[in-house]
Amino acid sequence: METQCLKIETGLLPKAEGSRESETGQEDWPAASREALELAGDLIRRGELVAFPTETVYGLGADALNEDAAARIYAAKGRPSDNPLIVHICRLDQVAEIARDIPEEAWKIMERFWPGPLTVILKKKAIVPDGTTGGLKTVAIRMPSHPVAAALIRVSGRMIAAPSANRSGRPSPTSAAHVYEDMKGRIPLILDGGPVQIGIESTIVDMTGDRPVILRPGFITPEMLEKVAGPVTVDPAVAGREKPVNMVAKAPGMKYRHYAPKGQLVLVEGAGPRVIAEINRLAADREAEGLKVGIIATDETLDSYKKGIRRSIGRRSDPETVAAGLYRILREFDDLACQYIYSESFFEEGLGDAVMNRMLKAAGYRLIEV
Ligand code: AMP
Ligand code: MG
Repeated sequence: METQCLKIETGLLPKAEGSRESETGQEDWPAASREALELAGDLIRRGELVAFPTETVYGLGADALNEDAAARIYAAKGRPSDNPLIVHICRLDQVAEIARDIPEEAWKIMERFWPGPLTVILKKKAIVPDGTTGGLKTVAIRMPSHPVAAALIRVSGRMIAAPSANRSGRPSPTSAAHVYEDMKGRIPLILDGGPVQIGIESTIVDMTGDRPVILRPGFITPEMLEKVAGPVTVDPAVAGREKPVNMVAKAPGMKYRHYAPKGQLVLVEGAGPRVIAEINRLAADREAEGLKVGIIATDETLDSYKKGIRRSIGRRSDPETVAAGLYRILREFDDLACQYIYSESFFEEGLGDAVMNRMLKAAGYRLIEV
């Protein structure tokens, strides 16, 4: 199968956050972008796959209520069939079409954080096929804010099931080029909306119990949710610095061996100068053994490293740039076939939790404290 990659110009549109349809229901898309969106909508209605940008990472979409279409997602990704998909919607009234027994708190957080990087788990209605939810009786729902994602859902006239658009075991894609690397020849169409804004997957919150439980940390933090919905629990399987033992993560995706770089990733934590000294020492040792070393630095520290292949993940003073750079830098070190990767750590409150959750898993929880 040939994979087409079509650019969608969003430059003429208002920024994602304020993006809403105009009163006539028409958006000001340039003609080529509108045509690409219509082609994409057509493919979705026919049960085919389309990769598209969201504000978190690129998604691999299919008609959520068509079991055969959902099955194509698992085949294209090489994903285990009990790992459920997230259903993407563009209007709040779609929630009641696919979910039942929706608690008051769930409505509050949906109204507050949608469209945006938050996925809500609710009890599912029978209309949602088991093939979309991996056999679970619950369904994961999100309303993305990215204008291309919102337009695709609307133009297709369907709800769109989508996981991240990477092959299973690879980092989530944050650009159309990443999607192409992984999905070339496997899907008919990629909508290229440029690099994503956030760069790590949505926060997942389970609203089927007595209180909200965070199953996956993300851009929307527990503190932000607590202001709207009262006390929030973080699933112990995704909290903390140590590898969870004998714990079953409630988001099935979290139990699978996650992405691990081809090389060995080691995180170094401590006061700035000590971290730099330790990474320099480790990198020098490995290079003396003839091994290829990558270093994950920040804009602030890049020049302090003397050995290895040095790359900045972003600005430490601006955690959002670190989140946005994470998967790009991990893919780059895979491409460079580094045997060891040494990284600074980012345990700052808030977004740091979500970044470190992904980094610790990629590192197999190898963390050196200095
Ligand atoms: P991905 O977008 O690739 O990260 O995949 C979707 C994530 O949502 C996976 O980690 C799934 O395990 C999680 N997920 C989807 N549906 C459910 C559900 N009903 N209950 C808990 N987690 C879910
Ligand atoms: Mg994924």
